[in-house]
Amino acid sequence: MRNNKPIFVTKPSLAPLKEYTKILKEVWRRGVLTHNGPLVQSLEEKICRKFGLNYFVAVSNGTIALQMAIKALKLKGEIITTPFTWIATISAIKWQGCQPVFCDIDRHTLNIDPAKIESLITPLTTAILPVHVFGNPCDIEGVEAVAKKHKLKVIYDAAHAVGSTYKGKSILKYGDISAISFHATKLMNTAEGGGCVAKNRKLYEKLKCIRFFGYNDQKNMVEEGFNGKMTEVHAGLGLANLRYYNKVLSDRKHKCLYYRQKLSSLKFISFQECKTNETNYSYFPVIFDSEKRLIAVKKKLNAKRIFPRRYFFPSVNTYTKNDNYRPAPISESISKRILCLPLYWELKVDEMKKIIKLISK
Ligand SMILES: *Cc1c(COP(=O)(O)O)cnc(C)c1O
Repeated sequence: MRNNKPIFVTKPSLAPLKEYTKILKEVWRRGVLTHNGPLVQSLEEKICRKFGLNYFVAVSNGTIALQMAIKALKLKGEIITTPFTWIATISAIKWQGCQPVFCDIDRHTLNIDPAKIESLITPLTTAILPVHVFGNPCDIEGVEAVAKKHKLKVIYDAAHAVGSTYKGKSILKYGDISAISFHATKLMNTAEGGGCVAKNRKLYEKLKCIRFFGYNDQKNMVEEGFNGKMTEVHAGLGLANLRYYNKVLSDRKHKCLYYRQKLSSLKFISFQECKTNETNYSYFPVIFDSEKRLIAVKKKLNAKRIFPRRYFFPSVNTYTKNDNYRPAPISESISKRILCLPLYWELKVDEMKKIIKLISK
């Protein structure tokens, strides 16, 4: 093993370049770069087939997908969400003119705790927006029971969760809309990209119009839209990468199980509680017993040019201390103590052994 090569927390999974350039040649020949071109349509079809979906709209990134979901459902007022997420979940809510209301998480699954949602509902609440954190399904049954009782819409931030399942079905089939990300660091990537999975045709048509400046197929302006289009160049990369998706998934599963087995005897570390048949193993987070210990371990790894990442840190409810800070003690505590270890296709067993040894000492 070369000792001077840095090991980062992640590295994009990429199909062989030759396969991508072959697709790019078609793009050059056609001269169609965007506007719902044939590669975007083909990617949408293949994603639908692979995950058993009916209504999928590819867009330019996962943040736009979240904003389009909020827009398509005409949400106003307050949206109940989790503080243990990436900031994009919150910025999407705010850019659509809504107010995020933070509901604390379950300390084991790290997902929104449905038992704590009800007390946060006010006359202004219009939706619940949970995240399937690290690809681990949130308590969908619990969330949807509260939503049904109070007639709230449900959007899932499924940015991490392409390939995860819930009760034997793709996790993307739940909620009014699920928003996904194909960002470079996600399990399935188009460099930048994402999409919305809608529960019915009406929402699907609406999302397509919003993506294209508000115009429908007849070029009538029927929605308040914007530009959410995915390009052919990105869709082509997605088509190439999709062929390797199963391999990437099983490789991550293998690596996660290896890490977990080797680290499980350490008293100062615990893990996110996952259902092994439902998660997509897209990250490998470890939770330390104290922030002090996390910092010490991180320092030790950094000294060997190994760069795990504090993710998610800080808990996003603390960002908004100025407007409406609402404590979320579990999320705030976990955020300070959680570290995602390197996990990607090219990561070698020897490198994992080295990481495990440094943490264990
Ligand atoms: C990556 C991510 C997003 C945003 O996706 P982009 O494609 O990067 O815009 C939203 N939510 C979560 C939880 C994410 O991890």
